Amino acid sequence: MAKYVYFFGDGKAEGNGQMKDVLGGKGAGLAEMTNAGLPVPPGFTISTEACREYIRLGRKVADDVERQTREGLSKLEKSVVQKLGDDDNPLLVSVRSGAKFSMPGMMDTILNLGLNDATVDALSFRTSNPRFAYDSYRRLIQMFGAVVLEVPKPLFDEVFEGKKKQRKVKLDTELTARDLQDVIVGYKRVIKKHAGREFPQNAYEQLQLARNAVFSSWFNDRAYHYRRMNNIPDDLGTAVNVQAMVFGNLGETSGTGVGFTRNPATGNREFYGEFLMNAQGEDVVAGIRTPVHISELQKIQPAVYDQLRAITSRLEHHYRDIQDFEFTIQEGKLYMLQTRNGKRTGRAALKIAMDMVREGLINQTEALFRVDANQIYELLFPRFDPKQIARATPLANGLPASPGAAVGQVVFTAEAAVEWHRAGKGPVMLVRAETTPEDIQGMEVAAGILTSRGGMTSHAAVVTRGMGKCCVAGATGIEVDEHTKTLRVGKQIFGEGAWISIDGSTGQIYEGRQATVPADPNDPMLVEFMTWAEPHRKLGVRANADIPRDARAARAFGAEGIGLCRTEHMFFGEGKIEHMRAMILAADEKARRAALKKLLPLQRRDFIGIFEAMAGFPVTIRTLDPPLHEFLPQREQIMVDVERLKLATGPVKRKLGTEIRQRYADYGISDVKGLEALLRKVQDLHEVNPMLGLRGCRLGILYPEITEMQARAIFEAAVAVQKKGKKVLPEVMIPLVATPRELELQKEIVTRVADEVFKASGVTVEYLVGTMIELPRAALVAGEIAESAQFFSFGTNDLTQTTYGFSRDDIGKILPVYLGQGILKQDPFSTLDQVGVGQLVKLATEAGRKTRPGLKVGICGEHGGDPASVEFCARIGLNYVSCSPYRVITARLAAAQAGAAAVAGSEAGRTK
Ligand code: PEP
Ligand code: MG
Repeated sequence: MAKYVYFFGDGKAEGNGQMKDVLGGKGAGLAEMTNAGLPVPPGFTISTEACREYIRLGRKVADDVERQTREGLSKLEKSVVQKLGDDDNPLLVSVRSGAKFSMPGMMDTILNLGLNDATVDALSFRTSNPRFAYDSYRRLIQMFGAVVLEVPKPLFDEVFEGKKKQRKVKLDTELTARDLQDVIVGYKRVIKKHAGREFPQNAYEQLQLARNAVFSSWFNDRAYHYRRMNNIPDDLGTAVNVQAMVFGNLGETSGTGVGFTRNPATGNREFYGEFLMNAQGEDVVAGIRTPVHISELQKIQPAVYDQLRAITSRLEHHYRDIQDFEFTIQEGKLYMLQTRNGKRTGRAALKIAMDMVREGLINQTEALFRVDANQIYELLFPRFDPKQIARATPLANGLPASPGAAVGQVVFTAEAAVEWHRAGKGPVMLVRAETTPEDIQGMEVAAGILTSRGGMTSHAAVVTRGMGKCCVAGATGIEVDEHTKTLRVGKQIFGEGAWISIDGSTGQIYEGRQATVPADPNDPMLVEFMTWAEPHRKLGVRANADIPRDARAARAFGAEGIGLCRTEHMFFGEGKIEHMRAMILAADEKARRAALKKLLPLQRRDFIGIFEAMAGFPVTIRTLDPPLHEFLPQREQIMVDVERLKLATGPVKRKLGTEIRQRYADYGISDVKGLEALLRKVQDLHEVNPMLGLRGCRLGILYPEITEMQARAIFEAAVAVQKKGKKVLPEVMIPLVATPRELELQKEIVTRVADEVFKASGVTVEYLVGTMIELPRAALVAGEIAESAQFFSFGTNDLTQTTYGFSRDDIGKILPVYLGQGILKQDPFSTLDQVGVGQLVKLATEAGRKTRPGLKVGICGEHGGDPASVEFCARIGLNYVSCSPYRVITARLAAAQAGAAAVAGSEAGRTK
């Protein structure tokens, strides 16, 4: 029979720290701490398999799970010599979720379970503390009501705040036991009214319902959304931890707190955390009361403080990683409630990994895996311009919860943040008293987050650090009123839409829009870390860059060439677009050649800039690949303008004429006739399905003079730069090829022009002509294509589009549903679909290299900067990945990790 329940207590656990798959992160940590002899309240973990079984059975608990839950409970009762529901000496438990990957704030917790109208009196009698007993009971009803019975939380707040008002008190702690009894009556009424049932008095029924609610919370929106953001599969399920309660709210010698063995924001080696005396855990985590720095505990309870330091540093040594821990002090005695590897910012991850190498805890190769390649990106975030910010006076201060600099317009709700974002109104700053898991979507779209309450471990702080988003939390000097939509700082009032700036590294808040500077790619810590990584990297990393400035940035980040220069991007902008339009609108080849002649020097100048920035490194230049109508005005707009011009008379016609001349100035259009001619051309170019239309090499096949002009610009630029003594390595790339013949025809043009330019200049430049593989057919006939292709570059954006048949521009509508129903596990446009699209990549690479051994193969779709896709490219033996300049370091680290993992894998294979 399957084992679903694992006991921990009496110095021994049935599980251990390795069993995260079965026990979840929290359960595994509790088992490990118990086995290590640390003071952990006993309990049991119901496994993730039990949750999966619950899902399989249509949200029903399997009989074996039920029986083993009862057995686990009776073991626990024996261990603590108390009984659940006993009206003399009742056992109270916490019920908490715990998935394999920690999902902060996403799942639900219930404390004080086991209290009812009878056990509350027993608790009151035994502790001689009726206030504590009734406070615990009202908290249970509230949590149980909200989490299990889904009664909206504000309804409980109304009762509680109503009582405080009636009693004319400010603090929760000023309510007496009697008052709390009234609150309990009120809470029960709320439950009866909104849940249509009584609060359950049977303690075991409470436990069953709570367990099932934790299982079900795996599916709540917040959990679902968090999994999407962090690429956590939906089918893992969560474990449930049932643990004997210890109380941090038993009086002034009790307390509760959370902490980190190092600073999770900066990585500095300092004992770091917060606590509150006379409080329960949720008060700290939810940011309801602003907690006190852990160093204060040394003054209040020095022995407990020393013990906590000793235990946590032992845990850090044991796990060889920064620990994020929770503890409770019950009447002067310390209990550990959780330990896990702490979430940290990118900068902290880097510092901790490097420090731990120096401390001898881990080696350099292990250090590489301690930094998430995606997270390193965050080091490249902007900071405030140091000179300007030194002159600015901060409005107020908060806690530096998550680093970076953010500038945005104030909004007061997550919904408003999403709306502003959708409407494209520019960056928003989400300003809240405190954030809750419901705010997650708003937080995601905001430039930064500012809260007036909560500490470094509040929801806002933890979640933004995970997102790599700038956050200042617990700014007690500001007042946030979500109803009147005002942010008050002293006498100053800011309404919705006001600009403010926050510094997540210092906690400073500024008025207006402070200037930011981009991050420094030469950050010494990052540079040193990358010197550890580089020897492990086999895969090349290039950048996608279309202008000299981006090419220079890419070099600074360590790009070893350009993997994709999209030449159509070079035609946007003053002085170019009009020639491009003239070229498109040309009535015949002669007119087109005339327009191309004007474009030639402009292209050549841009190529010269790029070759110079990338001297000594290859530059892959792709011939033109846009749907042409993208360069023209909208067909519908011209239609409307034609009709308006026809109908208008008198002064209206004159006014309209001016408007039309302005709108179509680039086309030199001044009357209805000209506009009609433009409409005819746009109609001509109009395609029902432009993504599958006149794109890529098809354009160069229909209008060879375009490829000719581009080839001339490339080689003339190459010759010019080479003449200056700089090494130039052009690689001309033909896009959207489906048949070998298309490539042959385009290649003929390119080589002919190259010969002409070399002959005329007397200089020869080494170059390659290759192709993009962006269509399934190209992948299938790659062996033949490789007869003329000197390199391949996978355009996985189009290859994903054409393999799935998903429009890359419209996937947004389908994606949420597909992810929700588990049809897709990830967005295939962000992370390569290794099974399908990846198979084509692998197959085409093998076929290409069979024809042309040693064929150079790269990838230049968006996937080139996604760590999982980079790992795949390394595994199947591509030569390089190419990504946007700011992702270059991410790709370099991911490639180094892939290299190190491959060596570790083959070494493990050898020792077997
Ligand atoms: C691709 O299709 O992956 C690609 C790089 O080309 P583009 O995104 O310009 O279509
Ligand atoms: Mg493409």
